[in-house]
Amino acid sequence: MADLTPTHDFPGIRIGQHSSSSEPFADYACGGCGATNQATGKDDVKALVQHYTDNHGPAHKRNGR
Ligand SMILES: [Zn+2]
Repeated sequence: MADLTPTHDFPGIRIGQHSSSSEPFADYACGGCGATNQATGKDDVKALVQHYTDNHGPAHKRNGR
């Protein structure tokens, strides 16, 4: 099985799904502050993406930090 743990070599968010019948999953490693998080399941993945978009990644530049 692939190692999906985010590392600081690859900052950003990743979303995937092992198969059409399995739960989607997502994880991120923020290049701006070093935060990491992960989620499994449609609703949790959606919330994770929203949180990352609002608070991490490009949002750090937008907020000037
Ligand atoms: Zn961040």
